[in-house]
Amino acid sequence: MTDTTETQGTLPDRLARAITLAGPISIAQFMAAANAHYYATRDPLGATGDFTTAPEISQMFGELLGLALADVWQRAGSPPAAYVELGPGRGTLAGDALRAMAKAGLAPPAHLVETSPVLRAAQAERLPGATWHDALSTVPEDRPLLVLANEFFDALPIRQLVRTATGWHERLVACQDTLFLPIAGKQVPDGVIPADLRDAEPGAIIETSPASVAVVRALAQRLVAQGGAAILVDYGYQGPAIGETLQAVRGHAYANPFDAPGEQDLTAHVDFATLVAAAAAEGANVRGPVEQGLLLTALGIDARLTALSRTAPDRGEALLAGRNRLVQPDQMGTLFKAVAITAPGWPVPGGFA
Ligand code: SAH
Repeated sequence: MTDTTETQGTLPDRLARAITLAGPISIAQFMAAANAHYYATRDPLGATGDFTTAPEISQMFGELLGLALADVWQRAGSPPAAYVELGPGRGTLAGDALRAMAKAGLAPPAHLVETSPVLRAAQAERLPGATWHDALSTVPEDRPLLVLANEFFDALPIRQLVRTATGWHERLVACQDTLFLPIAGKQVPDGVIPADLRDAEPGAIIETSPASVAVVRALAQRLVAQGGAAILVDYGYQGPAIGETLQAVRGHAYANPFDAPGEQDLTAHVDFATLVAAAAAEGANVRGPVEQGLLLTALGIDARLTALSRTAPDRGEALLAGRNRLVQPDQMGTLFKAVAITAPGWPVPGGFA
């Protein structure tokens, strides 16, 4: 398009103009545009940012996942492999995982799938030798892949369907003056709604993430074709289910997801059942979801805590606090879950038996 109204002004201005000119947009379009701008313009992680994540809480998270992949790799006969991470944030998880892998004799090239220039720069400081990709489609094709992703899928766009008195409708984002608000759009055939959810009360919402399904399918196809293993960690549920999980976080507090697009982090809970089914349909072996607390415990977080506390007694308290935050059920231990996807013939990572 040559229309300059598409490219001028702030993101809210541009979205408002696009909606005025062409009508309400899908929730997925709104979320994709908001998050693309949000991640492209800042490093949102940590105490001074909007939210924090498992690798930023404790080095043990990345070390244990790295060791789990190194163990799989060894049991597969130690072939030349590549490390791939989806949405690596500050590069902390990759740094911790690769350091642990190196101790196990594994030093794969790092291929990072990241769209944000700001976060690519942060990752480059930790991982100067890495290669960056806009999407999974360009990572190496000639070797097995050892893949990690933490809180990547929750940032990918979701679609919402809303039940009204007349049936199910696509949920759209409209704009009134400068306010964005969700409305019911065109009706969808009942046949696209899972039978057991069809008769939900008016106001009920179902979410799907076609973008997440596409990434998991592409990942599973690569693993089946090339060999390798992936561990995907996120927070979520076993869907499809009724319920709205789209949420906005700004300055470590919840906000209205339709406010200030591009200035707050938009996420949705991940439907693990659908992602597992998508990977299995491609012929990959899929295990989980396993609760994060159980997985990290099975991978030996308590032994690692003891070892680290012994070498750095002054950090003992902080290490224990990190361990508790990652593992305890009332913290991140239950809400966060992990799925393992492996190529046929490849061993299953520890903790997923
Ligand atoms: N894994 C990191 C960061 C999680 S935040 C951690 O646990 O700390 C989400 C990450 O995914 C960011 O790095 C963000 O820039 C990236 N991201 C979001 N949408 C993306 C997309 N469509 N393609 C590639 N990367 C994306």
